[in-house]
Amino acid sequence: MKKIKIAHKFYLLIITFFSLTSCLKWAARAEKKLPDETALHRTYDYSGKVIIIGAGASGLAAAKVLEKNNIDYTILEATNRCGGRLKKDTTLADFPIDVGAEWLHSAPITLNKLKGKHGEEIDEELIPYQLESTATWDGKEYKVNSTWQNDFRYNFLPESKFKNTTWYDFVNENIANTVIQNIHYNSPVVSVDYSNNEVSVEILNGATFIADRVLVTVPIGVLKSEKISFIPELNQERKDAIEEITFHPGFKVVMKFSDKFYPDAIECEVDNGEKGYYDIAFGKETQDNILGFLCTGNETQKYYDLNSNDEILDSLISELDQIFNGKASASYSGEYILENWGQYEFTLGTWTQAFQEKKSNLKILNQSLDNKVYFAGEINDPYKQMGVPGAILSGYYSIDKLLTDQ
Ligand SMILES: Cc1cc2nc3c(=O)[nH]c(=O)nc-3n(C[C@H](O)[C@H](O)[C@H](O)COP(=O)(O)OP(=O)(O)OC[C@H]3O[C@@H](n4cnc5c(N)ncnc54)[C@H](O)[C@@H]3O)c2cc1C
Repeated sequence: MKKIKIAHKFYLLIITFFSLTSCLKWAARAEKKLPDETALHRTYDYSGKVIIIGAGASGLAAAKVLEKNNIDYTILEATNRCGGRLKKDTTLADFPIDVGAEWLHSAPITLNKLKGKHGEEIDEELIPYQLESTATWDGKEYKVNSTWQNDFRYNFLPESKFKNTTWYDFVNENIANTVIQNIHYNSPVVSVDYSNNEVSVEILNGATFIADRVLVTVPIGVLKSEKISFIPELNQERKDAIEEITFHPGFKVVMKFSDKFYPDAIECEVDNGEKGYYDIAFGKETQDNILGFLCTGNETQKYYDLNSNDEILDSLISELDQIFNGKASASYSGEYILENWGQYEFTLGTWTQAFQEKKSNLKILNQSLDNKVYFAGEINDPYKQMGVPGAILSGYYSIDKLLTDQ
């Protein structure tokens, strides 16, 4: 029995070593894969009209290129706001909180690439996400990680966060600000007809928009749901590729407490996806105690089975009470924000991890439909970055293709 336990521990050590080593390789590779220049550095003399579907990071990035080159374009956005999975809250704390994307998983220089700025020096103040106190929780046992484990993780996967701003602010100030006048809000696209020379795009209220070429930037969850009809229909190969991409359901909660009874982060054991609590105020200039909770994957269903957001909060506070002997309910202010990205009609998931997907599927998803309809978004990023950087770079990449394909 003892032998089995030792063998099991050894096995876990090997798995941890290899997954961390691949993270290191991934982080180093990701920086090397950043393009030297993007569509922001080129000029285009395209004379047609373009429609962009979706005003998330990728759609806004593509629009920035069109704006810069005085190309006629319209952005059709389903909701009443831009940013997509980038969203900030300024009501809960004395600092702005990212309630969508939050971390910069890549090297800081990536921010310059996204803005089209040359050089190594970045303008943004970042917080290195080097945690000092972390723990794991398996539902029964709470284990504090060693300093060595914390340092090891940071050295292998260095991440950062914006100090006084958010991902939403970054995209708003550097990308969205020059294109927002061309966004038609509350305009969910229901069909894209590319059977004629021009492409006809219909929105829910029946209005139709015509363009020479269209860039679709909706999340893969929306494509999976088939809420947008393509005429002619997407071929089976593309439908299968869309189906095979993993896009976990999930949600994010932000809670306010009077005391900081928790460590920098607690990773909870789950079979599939991610679940964890983390100090959102880490490294921020604030007196507020703000704890975040992220859950994706199968575990999400347990929370979705509850009747309301308040019940989800009750269950989180009770789990924290179990770990911290009642300290959570004693200091919980009752104020929270819950962003249910997995069930928002125009997102239907959290994020994709392109590097875990089949290359052949990624290639299919990046092909145009008859050189008239193109695709961008985090899953269409050919430079294999994660999250927001991937989405923005895909916007630049796909609009370049759209403007230059014969
Ligand atoms: C909780 C959470 C945490 C995350 N954390 C991080 C992180 O820390 N770091 C990171 O880099 N990334 C993170 N991500 C991922 C990151 O947010 C995404 O990769 C990125 O924002 C995707 O941008 P996008 O433009 O591809 O898609 P989106 O931002 O989803 O934009 C798509 C747009 O299309 C619109 N749309 C959808 N359907 C239609 C339709 N039918 N008609 C018209 N418009 C439509 C949507 O409303 C939306 O505005 C996180 C995501 C979530 C949900």
